[in-house]
Amino acid sequence: ALHTGYIGRFAPSPSGPLHLGSLLTAVASYLDARANQGQWLLRLENIDPPREQDGAAKLIINSLKAHSLYWDGDILWQNQRSKNYETALSKLVTTQNAYHCSCSRAQLAQHGGIHPKQCINPPKEGDSAIRLKIPHTNVRFTDRVQGAQSYSADKIGDPVLKRRDGLYAYQLAVVIDDADQHISDVVRGVDLLDATAWQLHLQQALSLPAMRYLHLPVIVGDDGHKLSKQSCAPAINNQLASQNLRKVLSYLNQPLPPPELNTTKILQWAIEHWRPQLIPAGASLSL
Ligand code: GLU
Repeated sequence: ALHTGYIGRFAPSPSGPLHLGSLLTAVASYLDARANQGQWLLRLENIDPPREQDGAAKLIINSLKAHSLYWDGDILWQNQRSKNYETALSKLVTTQNAYHCSCSRAQLAQHGGIHPKQCINPPKEGDSAIRLKIPHTNVRFTDRVQGAQSYSADKIGDPVLKRRDGLYAYQLAVVIDDADQHISDVVRGVDLLDATAWQLHLQQALSLPAMRYLHLPVIVGDDGHKLSKQSCAPAINNQLASQNLRKVLSYLNQPLPPPELNTTKILQWAIEHWRPQLIPAGASLSL
């Protein structure tokens, strides 16, 4: 076992129903947690209403159940967490780890899309975003599948933590919630590998404990783009749950369970045979 206090999570955004790519993330995070006698928590990242789809949260929950992917404890809904996010933001601003910013997208585009550290125009009261001030230090971490990673401070720029329109950014919410849920291990798609650098800086600014990371290859559709809820990837068919689980295990390059098992048995078998070291590192698996 990796760790005695393993706590993992699956943290979908309800921007659409579960598709094969998000099922892969759900299954991998579930198996890694269970193979380490860990807990597996479910968090719904519903902090971005413009990108959400009515009923998607319910569809995601139903699909998880249909695949016998049962989580521990209560679901954490990010739209209930504003107080926690505000507390963290004021701490960051007070300690000068974050600052108000009214630079427009067009202005930032003239700087390669990266905030130049000094605001181009002074922040306007009440009409500003809050950005994390990234220190001039490089960030390094070792991903369990993707290997050693290093991000230099001047390349990653200062990320927005709270948007000008008042919405909390994913980078903020994910770090606060992972810490409050005592997550030890993050298992998610490789499309979020770069975001990890920002998240590590944010953890340091708030003196939060570090976690381990495993970034999974993402499934790419015919058009070469990652399957995503926003690009309207087809929803998985809950009637074919066993078949879906087998498909995902084969994408993950895991040994395949004997035929004719139900979903519970497939997962049980897959936990016993879980070999994260066999997961391909490549950024994409095609459909
Ligand atoms: N909510 C994010 C998504 O659905 C994932 C967050 C995470 O696992 O860190 O892409």
